[in-house]
Amino acid sequence: MVESASNGIPPRHIALAAVKTDSRMLNSLISTIKRWRKPSEPSGPRIVPRGDHNISRKEISRAALTVMKRLQDAGFEAYIVGGGVRDLMLGGHPKDFDVATDATPEQAKELFRGARIVGRRFRILHARIGREIIEVTTFRGHHSEGEEHEAQQSEHGMLLRDNVYGDLASDAARRDFTVNALYYTTKGFEVHDYTGGVHDIRERLIRMIGDPATRYKEDPVRMLRAVRFAAKLDFEIEEHTATPLKELAPLLRNIAPARLFDEVLKLLMAGHGERTFELLRQYRLWEHLFPGNAAALKDPAALELTRLALRNTDQRIREDRRVTPAFLYGALLWPAVRNEQQHLQDHGTPPVPALAQAAQKVVSAQLTHTAIPKRFSIPMREIWDLQLRLPQRNGNRAQRLSEHPRFRAAYDFLLLREQCGEIEPGLGQWWTDFQEADEEGRAQLVSKVQRSGGGRRRGRGSRGGRRRRPKAE
Ligand code: ATP
Ligand code: MG
Repeated sequence: MVESASNGIPPRHIALAAVKTDSRMLNSLISTIKRWRKPSEPSGPRIVPRGDHNISRKEISRAALTVMKRLQDAGFEAYIVGGGVRDLMLGGHPKDFDVATDATPEQAKELFRGARIVGRRFRILHARIGREIIEVTTFRGHHSEGEEHEAQQSEHGMLLRDNVYGDLASDAARRDFTVNALYYTTKGFEVHDYTGGVHDIRERLIRMIGDPATRYKEDPVRMLRAVRFAAKLDFEIEEHTATPLKELAPLLRNIAPARLFDEVLKLLMAGHGERTFELLRQYRLWEHLFPGNAAALKDPAALELTRLALRNTDQRIREDRRVTPAFLYGALLWPAVRNEQQHLQDHGTPPVPALAQAAQKVVSAQLTHTAIPKRFSIPMREIWDLQLRLPQRNGNRAQRLSEHPRFRAAYDFLLLREQCGEIEPGLGQWWTDFQEADEEGRAQLVSKVQRSGGGRRRGRGSRGGRRRRPKAE
C-alpha cells in the first residue's frame, strides 16, 4: 500500500485510509460473528404444507380455533405454537394450546370479553372461551446490544423481564427448544419451522435454539425443561444441549423456590417421574432440587424408596388415580428425616420429639430450594407422624388410626418402607388384613397383637407418661 504514495497522495492519508478500510472490514467481521453467535438467526421458515404433516384440525380445541380466527379477522397474525404443535406432530392429544400473535396484549384484550393480562416476566393474555383458557402471547423480539428495550438481566445473565416485541422469526429464536418452536396456522394449514424443529421431531432430539450455555444462563429452568421433555417424549438431549448441564446446574440456586416447586410438580408428577429422576441425577440437577435426598442416596434403601415412590406415582397417573405432592415429597424427604431422627435418638432424644425435630430441620432446609405449600407440608408431616403410630395397635387404637384422614396415605407409605427394605415386612400385611376384615376379624387381629406383646410403643423414652391423643383433624 505504501507504494501508492508515489501517486501523489500524502503517505499519512494513505495510512488513514488503510486504517479505515481495516476497521470497516473488522466491523463487518464482528457483525458476522455476532450474527453467527446469535440464537439461531433464521433466514426464513421452512414451510411444511398441509399434505406433509399429520396435524388434523379435529385435534385442536374449539377454543384455540376461535381465538385464532378472532385475531385473524381483526387483521392480526395468529399461530398455535409450543407443546400443542409438538404433541400434535407426534400424534398425541395436547392438553392445552398456546397462541402466538403480532397483536400486543392490549390489542388482543380488546377482542376477548373478560380476558386478563397476566405475568411480569412475560406478559400474556388469558383469553377465556367457554370453560377453556387460551394463553395468547405476543411475538417476542431480540434484545440486541445497546438497543432501547424492556428486557432486564441480573448479574448472572438471567432474564428478569422479557417484554420486547418482535416478529415471528424473532419469536421462534426466543423459544427454548427447536421442537417447541413450530407454528401452525389455519391459514393454509401449514407448519412454519424456523429452527429445524421438524427435523428434530423426526430424529427425536431436544435441541436448544442458539448457544445452549447462554440460554441456560438466561433462564436456568430451561435445564429442567430439557430433561422434562426428554423424559416425557422419550427423546435424546442433543449433545451440545446436554454438555453444559452439569457445569451450570448450580445456577438453579438463583431460581425462586416457588417457581422451582411448580417445575418439580411438572417434572415428577406428570407420569414420567422415575425416568425424569434418573436423568436429573445423570446431569447433577437433582442435588440442587433435593439436596437432602441426594445426600441420602448412598444408602440403597433410600435410593429404592425414592424410585418406588416415583414409580408408584407414575403408575397411579396412568390409572387416573389421585396423586398428591404430600405423599411424594414425604417419600423424597423421608431418608433425610430418618437419618436425622436416628442421630437425635442416639443422643438421647425420645422417638416422637426426635421425629418432630428432624422433620422441622429437613423441611426448613428443603424450603430454601423448593417451596412446599402448607396444604402439602401439613399432611406430609402427618404421614410421617403416623409411621410412629402404625405399630401401636392395642385396644381400640387400630380402629381409631384406620379412621385418621391420612391413614390410607400413611399405610401406602409404610408398604413402600417395607418394600425398600428400610423396615422388616409384617406390619404392612397386618394392616392390609385389618382393612379387609369384618368387625370380628379385626378384634381377632388386635388380640393376636396383644398376645404377642406387640403393639406397644417401643424404644427409649417411650414411657414418658401417657400422652393425650391429638384431636383427629
Ligand atoms: P407442556 O406440554 O408441558 O405444556 P410446552 O412446550 O407447551 O409443554 P409450556 O411451559 O406450556 O411448555 O410453554 C409453552 C411454550 O413456551 C414452549 O413450548 C416454549 O416454546 C415456550 N417456553 C416456555 N418456557 C420457556 C422458557 N423458559 N424459555 C424459552 N421458551 C419457553
Ligand atoms: Mg403448554
